[in-house]
Amino acid sequence: MSQADREREGFEAKIQEFVGRNDGEPYVCPDTVNEPMIRHWCEAMGDENPAYTDPNLAKDTVHGGIVAPPTMLQSWDMRGFKMYDAASLLPPTTQRQLHKVFDEAGYTGVVATDTEQEYLRYLRPGDQITCQTTIESISEQKATALGTGYFVVTRTEFSDQNGDEVGWLTFRVLKFKPANAAAAPTEETSGETALPTRIRSPLGHDNKWWWDAIQQEKLLIQKCSDCDVLRHPPRPMCGQCQSTNWQGIEASGKGIVYSYTILHHPIIPGYDFPCPVGLIDLEEGTRIVANIRGCELDEIHIGMKVECMFEDVDDDFKLPFFYKLP
Ligand code: ZN
Repeated sequence: MSQADREREGFEAKIQEFVGRNDGEPYVCPDTVNEPMIRHWCEAMGDENPAYTDPNLAKDTVHGGIVAPPTMLQSWDMRGFKMYDAASLLPPTTQRQLHKVFDEAGYTGVVATDTEQEYLRYLRPGDQITCQTTIESISEQKATALGTGYFVVTRTEFSDQNGDEVGWLTFRVLKFKPANAAAAPTEETSGETALPTRIRSPLGHDNKWWWDAIQQEKLLIQKCSDCDVLRHPPRPMCGQCQSTNWQGIEASGKGIVYSYTILHHPIIPGYDFPCPVGLIDLEEGTRIVANIRGCELDEIHIGMKVECMFEDVDDDFKLPFFYKLP
């Protein structure tokens, strides 16, 4: 057995010791189930079911009063803004301790992959929820596109004030050694930090053709072959007549600013800030969102005439930008 194999065996024995462990005392959720949180959640999710928000209508439903949307289950367990730094939560949860073991061995990446949930009864205002999270399983080592790692499944069980279980969820994450982690600096590169580049759209069957055309300096618009309605961004079906037949027509690139905003915050890597973003009315009759360039920020106005130019943002990757026309 090689040294590397022995190290891996030791590491896996260490992480497997966490399987079956929980945090001991169940966590008592900070707020009882309550109408304001239900109302805010429904507003954020666009859920207009009156059984959740209208006491008068709710009393005539099978529930006899307001209930919480079942999918809110996990929100009662949310620990607030301090969750942005899980390491600072005290006392450290078992899950956090496990992640620390992973981090120290170089498995610093984490990505959530899936969750399963079951709701055993509706929750009502006044219910006091407690929850208990257990490390349910840790997979064998897996090679993934993100890097080599392990899938960790946790199971959280939610109970009410009577100790009765009201629901549960499992959550699977991949803890991995980032495959593209920056190599140690060499003499040539030390002291220089590569600037982050823009996040690119995921490309698939429904939109790759559009991005390919941009690289050829062509701005295409999707046109329904059955009702001639134009659409953007690219999508498989016409919103007007539900036809899936379409063609790409080339736009002149000329348009006017229909609306715009200037982003100051949050600072997203790969963009210059302040960052002017325009909603451009193309002269063919559809709209596109793109950055506005080539003029002072205070010159930008609704109705301003603009024209599309294609420019490299990094590694010969082109994007359309709209420049002010005289
Ligand atoms: Zn159509």
